[in-house]
Amino acid sequence: MDCLFCKIIKGEIPSSKVYEDEYVYAFNDINPMAPVHVLVVPKAHIKNVDEINGENSANIAKIFEAIPKIAKACSLENGYRVITNCGEDGCQSVMHLHFHILGGKKLPETMA
Ligand code: AMP
Ligand code: ZN
Repeated sequence: MDCLFCKIIKGEIPSSKVYEDEYVYAFNDINPMAPVHVLVVPKAHIKNVDEINGENSANIAKIFEAIPKIAKACSLENGYRVITNCGEDGCQSVMHLHFHILGGKKLPETMA
């Protein structure tokens, strides 16, 4: 399958790794929107939130167990934002589920 983030997880495309475990891979966004901008992805290929179901949701739990560890490693003691974009109206550009961790500054209140 021609998936950018699957290739990053496999090491076929280089990335700036922040965290990895059996289920989760996290790396710095190539086009950061905040001083800290990390992408957290399941190693399993799940397209987006629309494809989460009872069969694969354990991967999502693993992601949310990893996020506080990543936030701590990135010194985000003062807080951060977690975002996932889904589908065309959500402006999802890479079709492998990913959660953006944004922080390192006071973020704008508005989201849309
Ligand atoms: P989204 O628009 O929510 O699908 O987010 C995709 C994100 O992937 C964007 O923030 C891009 O900057 C980021 N991105 C695209 N290619 C790479 C790459 N090779 N390494 C790291 N981040 C990437
Ligand atoms: Zn993928």
